[in-house]
Formats: sequence, C-alpha cells, structure tokens
Amino acid sequence: MSITVPTAASNPTHSPLSTRSAGTITILVRSQRITVDCPPWCTEPHTDAYRSLEDVAHRGSEIALSVPVHGGDVVQVLSARIESWPFAGDPKTEAPFCAYNPANDEFAQLTAEGMTAAAEQSIAHGHALLALAASISGGAR
Ligand SMILES: [Zn+2]
Repeated sequence: MSITVPTAASNPTHSPLSTRSAGTITILVRSQRITVDCPPWCTEPHTDAYRSLEDVAHRGSEIALSVPVHGGDVVQVLSARIESWPFAGDPKTEAPFCAYNPANDEFAQLTAEGMTAAAEQSIAHGHALLALAASISGGAR
C-alpha cells in the first residue's frame, strides 16, 4: 500500500474526482488529491469525494446466480466479489477478502478458504437439486 500526495502541478483545479493509471488511482479526499494503489481486480470507479481515507474500498466485479421465484420473477443469490479496505484499520479487511452475500441480505467477509467451503456447499447442493429433479423425471410417481 502506498499513498502519494500530488504536487500542485499535478493538481489542476477543474479535474475529475478520480483518475486511474497503471496500478494507482488519484482520488479526492477532503478536497485533497491523493494517489493510492488500486489492485488490478478492482472495478470500483472511485468517483466519490471521500471524507476519509478509511472510506476507500476496492471492489471487484460481482458475480451472482439468477434464480426463479414465485410469480415468474428472478432474483440474484449467492453473490460474491473481491473487496479490500486498505485504510480502515481492520486487518481482516485490509487484504483482499471475499464479500459473500448468499441470500440477498448482508455480505459476509470470507477468507479464500471460507469462500471455498461455501462454494463446495453450493456445489453439493446443486448435486442434491439434480437428484431431486431426477427423482421425478420421466413421470415417476
Ligand atoms: Zn480500487
């Protein structure tokens, strides 16, 4: 993690809230332009004007499973993305972790091992769903 405060020459008055270059972003924190590392998996636009460096989070693209629900609607479940909060002061979120939201509720913060275990449970459940469907396929009674 590195932080660079740009010089006045690289801090024009009317510039976008953030700029991105190889491996870094320049963001606006309390009216001050600051350059910080941004990991290659991060898709966060970082266009917010941050009140504090602690509020800076890197987020990857979210993946989810679309499932049918009553009434023909479709909802997203088992959503997950990579996230890190490098300046929040919490060692659990400083390094990249898996933000996992299995049931459209709250995101759990999982290690790679925890996410692997949750994925294996989902795969096992998928096999159970296949077995359930197979038990009545072909008009079985
Ligand atoms: Zn980022």
